[in-house]
Amino acid sequence: MRKNLLAAYAIGVITALGALFLISQSQEQASAAPPSPTKAVADRDIYYPGTEDLAPDEMRIVCCGTGMPSVRPKQAAACFLLELGNGDKFLFDIGSGSHERIAAQKIPYDYIDKVFIGHLHVDHYGDLPSFWLGGTVMNRLTPLRVWGPSGATPESGTQAALDHMKKMYVWDIGTRSGVIDFRGGALEINEFPFNKVNNEIFNENGVVIRSIPAVHGLDGAVSFILEWNGMKFVYGSDTIPNKWFVEHAKGADVAIHECFLPPPLLVTKQGFAPLEALTVGTQGHTAPEQFGKVMSLVRPRVAIAYHFYNDFDTQPEVLRRIRKTYDGEVQTVVDYMVFNVTKDSVRVRMSAVDEEIWPSPPLKKKNAPDFTNSIPISDFTRSGALGWPDIVVPLYDEINKLYGTDYKPAFK
Ligand SMILES: [Zn+2]
Ligand SMILES: [Zn+2]
Repeated sequence: MRKNLLAAYAIGVITALGALFLISQSQEQASAAPPSPTKAVADRDIYYPGTEDLAPDEMRIVCCGTGMPSVRPKQAAACFLLELGNGDKFLFDIGSGSHERIAAQKIPYDYIDKVFIGHLHVDHYGDLPSFWLGGTVMNRLTPLRVWGPSGATPESGTQAALDHMKKMYVWDIGTRSGVIDFRGGALEINEFPFNKVNNEIFNENGVVIRSIPAVHGLDGAVSFILEWNGMKFVYGSDTIPNKWFVEHAKGADVAIHECFLPPPLLVTKQGFAPLEALTVGTQGHTAPEQFGKVMSLVRPRVAIAYHFYNDFDTQPEVLRRIRKTYDGEVQTVVDYMVFNVTKDSVRVRMSAVDEEIWPSPPLKKKNAPDFTNSIPISDFTRSGALGWPDIVVPLYDEINKLYGTDYKPAFK
């Protein structure tokens, strides 16, 4: 790409020299501007989703949520999209607000069918219902597969949480399942024990994912280790420094670990009381100095720090404190940062955002809706409908003519 860029400039320079020669020959004004190159600049050092091949030995990580439970335009809550050169795609956590960032990647929903949840805080799986049911409307036709930890009791584990999620959305499912091809509404729930160390929970297509326990809130928080093609990707979700992470994340190519604001900034910027700042910031979460110490023991090729409001006035202080305990490669990330990683290189860029994103077309032929799945509505509600056949029947006629069908409106 850089060669193309240089070639474009070289052509421009040669053309310019030629123009100058002609100008001097014709005794015209020597200061006339040379013509500029008209070819596209091939490499702008920014990532445009959907425009780049992924090499067979390459992984791409897109930060789809790097912030706090109270999401804001700049930062959704925890979510990292990992794309592998074999075509597999994984979501690690799917916190509040992250669905929008995932959608911005222009990837058909059928291809993002694997979600790994580190623990059941809303900032780590708050957008799962949106991604699940919204995805069914946006052309997902394959089941959504979710992995998450057990809890101290059956009621506090992932299986129970997602069973309740299904109940919470009975009304939503009831409206959609009878009017669209609802195959994408199928949910595969894989709960695994939170307390098994280096426990293999996924092994498909050359990709192995293991879980290790984390120390965060209650029993039932974990971190994930993914290995593929000789590379190791570690995602901490939330945890204070713990022995399992230090032992099993060692030598990772990419290690993502939470990093909170230092306690003084939790007080001044976030309004915490001093004891809250200390308790939350060091005993429930990981302070920057603790993050640095973890990474100095893990020694990844790239350490990624997330889970704080990352601004012009907070980032320098977080980094200064990380540097007290860690001198290796580190990135303090914000949403839409993108990492391209191979065994030899790591490239970090920002992603361009198309705010007018549309869902990708379906990857399979859609079935006609199964009206037998429709839940009947009462005569009362039905009596309120204004069928307006003079408006609606022509709309049906328009589609019937275009597609050779013979559909009739439900409301007369
Ligand atoms: Zn948490
Ligand atoms: Zn969190």
